[in-house]
Amino acid sequence: QAKRNGGDSIEPFRPAYRSVGYGRLELESDLRRAFERNELSLAFQPIVTLESEDIAGFEALLRWEHPRRGAISPAEFVPIAESTGLIVQLGQFALEEACRRLGDWQRMTGDENLFVSVNISSRQLIRQDLIGDVKTVLERYRISPNSLKLELTESLVMDNPERSAQLLTRLKALGVGLSLDDFGTGYSSLAYLMGFPFDTLKIDQSFLKNNSQPQRPIILHSIVTMAHDLGLKVVAEGIESDADVMQLRQLGCEYAQSFKFSPPLGSDQVRKILDDRAVGLKRAS
Ligand code: C2E
Ligand code: MG
Ligand code: MG
Ligand code: MG
Repeated sequence: QAKRNGGDSIEPFRPAYRSVGYGRLELESDLRRAFERNELSLAFQPIVTLESEDIAGFEALLRWEHPRRGAISPAEFVPIAESTGLIVQLGQFALEEACRRLGDWQRMTGDENLFVSVNISSRQLIRQDLIGDVKTVLERYRISPNSLKLELTESLVMDNPERSAQLLTRLKALGVGLSLDDFGTGYSSLAYLMGFPFDTLKIDQSFLKNNSQPQRPIILHSIVTMAHDLGLKVVAEGIESDADVMQLRQLGCEYAQSFKFSPPLGSDQVRKILDDRAVGLKRAS
């Protein structure tokens, strides 16, 4: 169960409720009400093209601003939402809100290649009419299927491989992108996982922590070349060192998503950045 969120055990953020004895049950009922109180929102972390460092898209990340406890990390509340089933509503909110924003940004910039990546949890994949919901939001916000990517972890897929394969194949047929999130935190081989129709692989940040593991260049080399040989694009998550950036560029790793380039941003900040970027592009031409 703890594995489901992969690299999240290394989150620097520790919520205060543990130390003040704020119980899980209390948090659980608060989370239920959080919707109506508008305490949930999305942050958007830029995913940059490694070569140019220009923004290619964003990962949508849930945020919860608790009225008394302040910001609570999704690494804490997403597992609670998963165990109570509330993740279905939270996930629906994330999908809808992410597509709504992306539609605005695409029309604002005229850049139809801008994409948004949304995390999907296992309950959503199994219980919700995910395919119907995806179709609905794409139409509602007039975005093309290839500018939406869904992120799924290996543990999610392995919970129910047959059903996952079937659903992912149907999602793929819609034209949406499928990213294998937190790669390297589980036990399956990439070769096995390629039985599923993923088009992008996100290397987990635990591989890219700024420490001096002598074997790391070899590991990165083999992950990226194998992913490319299998026809996958690669996102380096949480990349920290310049040496890793240089190596991954040389390997042709397509994207990076890390504090080194940008933290997750509020939608107003995204608007501003995209606006500045448009001005910059006009000046440059
Ligand atoms: P994830 O999907 O692997 O998302 C990436 C996480 O890594 C985000 O944490 C992001 O802020 C963090 N990160 C990005 N760059 C860096 C870096 O350079 N250094 C470090 N230390 N961290 C970096 P966040 O926002 O706290 O989310 C944690 C996890 O919560 C996500 O991991 C995902 O598993 C889950 N989550 C967030 N939003 C959703 C959602 O809408 N639905 C579902 N099912 N899960 C979500
Ligand atoms: Mg993660
Ligand atoms: Mg993710
Ligand atoms: Mg990840």
